[in-house]
Amino acid sequence: MTTGKINVSVENIFPLIKKFLYSDHEIFLRELVSNATDATLKLKHLTSIGEAKTEYGSPRIEIKIDKDAKKLHIIDQGIGMTADEVEKYINQVAFSGAEEFLDKYKDSAKDTGIIGHFGLGFYSAFMVADKVEIITKSYKDEPAAHWTCDGSPEFTLEPSDKTDRGTEIILHIADDSLEFLEESKIRELLNKYNKFMPIPIKFGTRQNALPKPEDAPEDYKTEYETVDHIVNNPNPAWTKQPSELAAEDYQSFYRELYPMQFEEPLFHIHLNVDHPFNLTGILYFPRLGADLQIQKDKIQLYQNQVFVTDNVEGIVPEFLTMLKGVIDSPDIPLNVSRSYLQADGNVKKISNYITRKVADKLKSLFTENREDFEAKWNDIKIVLEYGMLSEPKFYEKAGAFVLYPTVDGQYFTLEELKEKLKDNQTDKDGKLVVLYAGNKDAQHAYIDAAKAKGYEVLLLDSPIVSHLIQKLESDNSDLTFVRVDSDHVDNLIKKDENAVSKLSDEQQTSLKTVVEDIVPKTTYTVQLEALDSNAAPFLITQPEFMRRMKE
Ligand code: ADP
Ligand code: MG
Repeated sequence: MTTGKINVSVENIFPLIKKFLYSDHEIFLRELVSNATDATLKLKHLTSIGEAKTEYGSPRIEIKIDKDAKKLHIIDQGIGMTADEVEKYINQVAFSGAEEFLDKYKDSAKDTGIIGHFGLGFYSAFMVADKVEIITKSYKDEPAAHWTCDGSPEFTLEPSDKTDRGTEIILHIADDSLEFLEESKIRELLNKYNKFMPIPIKFGTRQNALPKPEDAPEDYKTEYETVDHIVNNPNPAWTKQPSELAAEDYQSFYRELYPMQFEEPLFHIHLNVDHPFNLTGILYFPRLGADLQIQKDKIQLYQNQVFVTDNVEGIVPEFLTMLKGVIDSPDIPLNVSRSYLQADGNVKKISNYITRKVADKLKSLFTENREDFEAKWNDIKIVLEYGMLSEPKFYEKAGAFVLYPTVDGQYFTLEELKEKLKDNQTDKDGKLVVLYAGNKDAQHAYIDAAKAKGYEVLLLDSPIVSHLIQKLESDNSDLTFVRVDSDHVDNLIKKDENAVSKLSDEQQTSLKTVVEDIVPKTTYTVQLEALDSNAAPFLITQPEFMRRMKE
């Protein structure tokens, strides 16, 4: 037997990068802007601890397109690199990057898309460029360096006459990637990935209207100045403390996130934890109504203010993927498959934290302003009911704020409801009978009949209500849910025994016969009612078990 080491040559990395990162090759810009941001943040740190003897100033990152020369420039004023550092970080990373890449490549066989989602950092530039230059000057007192590489393992490294601190990356855009020389394309990418990155990013200029002077003449024409166009908001709301923010700040951040969304959110939940994991974010409850045609993928996931994905499946509990907003956490492992995510302990903790935080917020909204909470109930119930069914941790807390509305627009918690039914609505076995209707109009005759007898009737009309009822019945042995048009209603203890029909016995029998002739006897029962009540003259009811069987 022979054993050996397969020699992976660095020559292989460029075709691999092109091939496997192809579906997401646009992330190169995110990676390069991330590096520029890191370089700037490093400088900030070094100046703050006095290690870098230089002014931090107000550095920014600039993106420039040179369409004629087919070049894209990413320029920063960060720490820069000495020639030695270029050797160390750039040239050697090609090797470690290759190793890392091949590691991931094994994984991607079963779950492609992983790599496309997670970049190779600097070398992702070669997905769109056939030649890359780095011109860089360190904050240290050393000459600037100029590195050039055309995608083969050979590179050149020579001195440069750059005098100002920082790094300029020049991408010579390949012919199959010319779209990245379009201003609109770059703007789109910056808006997608870099909108909330922490260092100002300049891309082009814009016209800024000057304030009208006090002594402006009648025919004054607005004057403009040309200013740098900063495309990002370096201090998004979620990075601040809740105490620093007013209700309007949350509203305007929502607008920033969803410029095309005209509806106001119902309320927000600010997430903010740094132990045992780090997570910040703001979630919004949008107006959902009762329909299940809910747009998912509305929560954006960031890592240190860099956009990663809007698919948060596995990280946010499923019932909350109907919400909107952002979460930002450096502790979510992103370069792994979704199935692994579910098993990751940290991710489970994050998911539980979000569930708990949402439940706590709902509880405080309910206790602080019940009236307002009731008014919003119809718009949030679907999320909450779904949460009760799918998340045991949420279910445990839901009793404190989940509401059961009556057909008359009263709202009860489950405890209040039980209290209400106790004396008036029990069956032979002593169980509390919760009467409910799914549709006020279609079932109005039954609702009226039940109300005439003094019963409470709930209006439970969300699409998952039958599951919810099953769950509530199995967890509350003292409760039984009965639809208002079921014949069980008749078994309730309280019944108006004295009501007398206006019809004679004979008339009753013939009416019953007529109706029974037209409805299928096996599944429905015909009951005659006292005509002097407000109820309908007769009711056709269906045994509860028959109805449930069909559902
Ligand atoms: P990572 O960012 O994960 O370290 P990259 O491949 O993106 O990996 O970058 C490799 C290294 O090159 C960085 O860690 C950094 O030391 C150096 N580097 C890249 N871009 C810059 C830059 N704009 N300014 C200073 N150093 C940089
Ligand atoms: Mg990087």
